[in-house]
Amino acid sequence: MTTPRHVAIMGVTGSIGRQTLEVLRTAPEEFVLDSVAGGTNLEALAEVVKEFNLTRVGIARDDDRGAFARLVGPNVDIVTGAEGLRELASASALVVNAVVGFAGLPVTLATLAAGNRLALANKESLVAAAPLVQQVRASGGDIVPVDSEHCAIHQCLVGATGNGYRDVSRLLLTASGGPFRTLPADQLSSVTLDDALQHPTWSMGPKITVDSSTLMNKGLEVLEASALFGISVDRIDVVIHPQSIIHSMVEFIDGSVLAQLSAPDMRLPIAYCLGLPDRLATEWGRLDFAAGLHLEFSAPRRDDFLALDLAYGAARRGGAAPAWLSAANEVAVAAFLERRIGWRDIVAVVATTLDSYVDVALTSVEELVREDATARRVAHDTLAH
Ligand code: NAD
Ligand code: MG
Repeated sequence: MTTPRHVAIMGVTGSIGRQTLEVLRTAPEEFVLDSVAGGTNLEALAEVVKEFNLTRVGIARDDDRGAFARLVGPNVDIVTGAEGLRELASASALVVNAVVGFAGLPVTLATLAAGNRLALANKESLVAAAPLVQQVRASGGDIVPVDSEHCAIHQCLVGATGNGYRDVSRLLLTASGGPFRTLPADQLSSVTLDDALQHPTWSMGPKITVDSSTLMNKGLEVLEASALFGISVDRIDVVIHPQSIIHSMVEFIDGSVLAQLSAPDMRLPIAYCLGLPDRLATEWGRLDFAAGLHLEFSAPRRDDFLALDLAYGAARRGGAAPAWLSAANEVAVAAFLERRIGWRDIVAVVATTLDSYVDVALTSVEELVREDATARRVAHDTLAH
């Protein structure tokens, strides 16, 4: 038996966090769960602590320390806030970042700075901090992508020659198209929150589900792919594929295309990231080719789903523009989830916020945190008008 791998899961109470626990339960000899962190869902977090006999846990707010200590007892070391996330992320060989939003930034940076492996679901941190992530990545930590599209590309690139992937001509990110893929343009203004939360192929947390309905999720993923694989967004295309069976593709310079296929089940990319370089023997996601597989492809409706072009625009502008895009989107999606704005307003708020962006090169975390705060202030002002 090989020595078990030490794992930490940040954002353990969410959709990806809970599915990561499912994968760990299938291979108890291969992994040791060192620590977990969550936000404000203290009861659910306490359940995980008990099940896995944990002695170190992170919670989002220091104010919750007393209440949480009563739930888990005196023998559990409780760390809080961003500093707590940094501490836990520095201490395990493999860290799953399943926090949602910019709040996941400390996990991404601390994991890589400590030279640990980052299994990254939290795309927002990479989108906002791409230049800073490249710097800390050089200190020895590596990123394995949990996001299904990027995980698919990671698998397709095995064997591709290095040197900036000379043999690769394009990355093709697939997108389900979300619940409004075929809805006529004139009906998009009247869609509701409940409509937006009905994703056709994936069951996910609320923020990414809304992002999938606007195609902002795909926009963020274009930026994520560019940062992960070091390929310009001009060589990354989006293809609508409603069945979510092909998770993404790589086209090579000889015209050959490699694709990765499996059922839409996030436990598969999570298991891939946990097992790498080996594959874990899991029972999920088998495809039944004999039953007939119907795979369709089309171009995205860019005129009706403007988030895609906003993301490409932010990528070409560089600096803190992607951070502004993502921050404004977080503010707008939160307002939509609270039923304060309509579905169409989400992308409109992002576009208006980006109009106020003044070019800045990102050279430090402090600068990024400042830019993020400014973008959020502008987005809130936009909401108020
Ligand atoms: P979710 O809302 O279900 O869970 C988010 C988790 O983050 C929760 O555990 C929450 O408590 C925690 N959290 C929030 N703020 C925190 C803070 N300040 N400190 C510590 N923990 C905090 O979200 P999700 O759907 O699991 O998505 C998580 C991330 O994975 C997102 O970035 C999303 O884009 C990405 N992702 C998700 C899926 C999916 O299928 N759900 C697929 C691909 C990528
Ligand atoms: Mg994805």
